Amino acid sequence: MNDRTWCFWETNPGLFESIVYRQWHQAWYYGEKISRLLQLSPYEYKLIRGIDFYNYCFGVIGKHKNFEIVYGEVEKIDTNGAIVVNGKTFRGDYIFNSIQIERPVLKPSQYNLLQHFKGWIIETDFPVFETDKPVLMDFRVKQEQGTAFVYIMPFSATQALIEFTLFGNHLLERNQYNEGLKKYISQFLKTDSYKILDEEFGVIPMTNYRSPSKKDKIINIGTAGGQTKASSGYTFQFIQKHSVALVQQLVSFGNPFLKKPISAPRFRFYDNTLLYILSHNKLPGEKIFSLLFKKNKPQQVLRFLDNESSIKDELKIISTLPTIPFLKAALKQI
Ligand SMILES: Cc1cc2nc3c(=O)[nH]c(=O)nc-3n(C[C@H](O)[C@H](O)[C@H](O)COP(=O)(O)OP(=O)(O)OC[C@H]3O[C@@H](n4cnc5c(N)ncnc54)[C@H](O)[C@@H]3O)c2cc1C
Repeated sequence: MNDRTWCFWETNPGLFESIVYRQWHQAWYYGEKISRLLQLSPYEYKLIRGIDFYNYCFGVIGKHKNFEIVYGEVEKIDTNGAIVVNGKTFRGDYIFNSIQIERPVLKPSQYNLLQHFKGWIIETDFPVFETDKPVLMDFRVKQEQGTAFVYIMPFSATQALIEFTLFGNHLLERNQYNEGLKKYISQFLKTDSYKILDEEFGVIPMTNYRSPSKKDKIINIGTAGGQTKASSGYTFQFIQKHSVALVQQLVSFGNPFLKKPISAPRFRFYDNTLLYILSHNKLPGEKIFSLLFKKNKPQQVLRFLDNESSIKDELKIISTLPTIPFLKAALKQI
C-alpha cells in the first residue's frame, strides 16, 4: 500500500538510491519575511514512495531462504524472546520490535507534541510546479492552530505532493486539513482546477519521553525505539543509521546491544530545548526556522538537524536564535 512518502537528505547515494523517486539539489524556504532558494549541495533532498520501498525490501528479503514472513497481529512480546502472533508462539535470540508495546506514561516534565499532516498528490490542468525546486517549508499559512507549514514535492510541472503540516497538542477535524490544502493551492499556486490523485495522512510524535531502547531480549527500533527526532519529526534517516549500527554490533560482537547511542547526548538536550519552546508557545516555530535559514548556510542547518554538526557549528547556530527564551528553555532541561 502506498501509505506514506519519505523525504530526507543525504550527501552520498544510500542503501535505497535505486528507488529514489525524485531528488533535488535546491529547495525553496518561505517564511513571513523571507523567501529563499536554498542551494543544498553536497546534500540532495530525496523522496521515496512507500510502495517502492515496500516492494524493494520484500524483493530483497524474498531472495533469502532463511526468512519467513508471517502476517498477523502481534498479541504478546515477551522479554525472554518469545512472541505470539495470531495465537502461535515464535522464539528467537532477540526480538527487533517496531511496535509501541506500552503507552508511554509521561512525567510532569515530559510532553508530547504531535506533528500531524495531510498530503495530496494533485494533477493541475496547466503547469504550475517548478520541477527542479521543491518547497522545503512554507510558513505563509495561518499559524493560529499551532506551528503550521506546507511543503511541496514536484513530480512534474503539473503533478506534485503537497503536504499541510502542523505541530500541536490536538489533531484537527479531517475537513480542516482539506481546507488548509485547498486554500494554499488557491492562494499560492493560483489554481482551483486540479484533480486529487492520492492522499496520505500521518501523525508523528515529537516528545522528550525516552522510549526504552531495549528490555532484555527485546530491541526497540524505529519510532518505538526513539528514532524520531523530537524537534523535527524526521525519522527515516535516523532509522537507517540505527539499523547500520545494530548490524555492525551484531557482526563485530555477536549481540545487538549498542554501547552508545547513535547521536551524541547533547543533541537530545537541543531537541528538548526546542521542543519545550514549541510546546509551551514561547516562540513561534515560523520565527525559529526563518532565523535558522536566514542566518545560517542550509548545509549547516541540515547537518545540525541530522545530529552531525560540530560543537563549533552548533554555537554559531545557537547564536542566531533569540537568547533569552532559548536560555530559559535550556535551563529547564538541566
Ligand atoms: C504518512 C507519513 C509520512 C512520513 N514521512 C516522513 C518523512 O518524509 N521523513 C521522515 O524522516 N519521516 C517520515 N515519517 C516518520 C517515519 O519515518 C515513519 O513513521 C516510519 O514509517 C516509521 O517506521 P517504524 O518502523 O518505526 O514504524 P511503522 O512504519 O509505523 O511500522 C510499525 C508497524 O507495526 C505495525 N503494528 C503495530 N501494532 C501491531 C501489532 N500489534 N501487530 C502487528 N503489527 C503491528 C503497524 O501496522 C506498522 O505497520 C512519516 C510518517 C508517516 C505516518
